[in-house]
Amino acid sequence: MRRLLIIALTCGGLLWAQSAGAPSKPDSGRAPITIRFKPLPRELLQQRLSLIRKTSPERQFVLEGLLSTSGCGIKRLEVKDHEPNVVCSLAGSSEKVIVLGAHYDHATKGDGAVDNWSGSALLPSIYDSMKDLKLRHTIVFVGFSAEEKGLLGSKAYVTSLAPDERRKISAMVNLDTLGLSSTKVWSNRASPLLVNSLAAVAQALKLPLEPINVDAKGASADSEPFFTADIPAITIHSVTMDTWNILHTSRDTLEQVKLNDYYETYRLITGYLIFLDQLLDAEPVPGGAGPS
Ligand SMILES: [Zn+2]
Repeated sequence: MRRLLIIALTCGGLLWAQSAGAPSKPDSGRAPITIRFKPLPRELLQQRLSLIRKTSPERQFVLEGLLSTSGCGIKRLEVKDHEPNVVCSLAGSSEKVIVLGAHYDHATKGDGAVDNWSGSALLPSIYDSMKDLKLRHTIVFVGFSAEEKGLLGSKAYVTSLAPDERRKISAMVNLDTLGLSSTKVWSNRASPLLVNSLAAVAQALKLPLEPINVDAKGASADSEPFFTADIPAITIHSVTMDTWNILHTSRDTLEQVKLNDYYETYRLITGYLIFLDQLLDAEPVPGGAGPS
């Protein structure tokens, strides 16, 4: 039996998180935000992790299969000299969009289980967890290609957007390197509103969250091309200074993924997307453009 998760947050809760411990008066002018979803069984997440493949074309094939089997119709976006980005979406009632991305390629050494099959294998599970909800934003799921070659897939994605398409993106949430430890957020290269919202959701769901910035290690992530294009963006990860040296080595195998941490990260991200969908501006299109 799956547990139904129902949490009501008020705007006051968010303000509380923003002011780091100083409770403020709830904003009575705004309806509470409700986070309500059925978490998938952890065995399903584990099974999807176990479908890891060695090469990028094989990973693309598996990711497309998982997403399309769940009902997310695949489109491919060309990335020059590399596999395409894998794109599919869940329609909302407004023109606004939230992009959820994770790269599916990996570095030459190791299996790339943590970096980043952990993130890409979560896309179909988050789709499954949200597909029966009435959403305001269209959620666009993107498996990025060629991140390890210099963010080529995410750069191609942002470049492909017309100016009005960029303006429709309320947020870009990037998943990279999950399950090494409890959930971490790269907070100094992210929109403050997105970071504060994630902290508020973690607090409401009683799930751990810590800010760990990895740019000092020379890292970059697929949120960066969005961030530099003035699209609010955030990267969620699980790397600590102790586990950093696992990445891009032969130690990056499935055994490194701690299933308990990974499952908590999945629940936090799903709750977070449901929260952002209600928090961020998205006026319904008159006549209704989305699903009924
Ligand atoms: Zn990565």
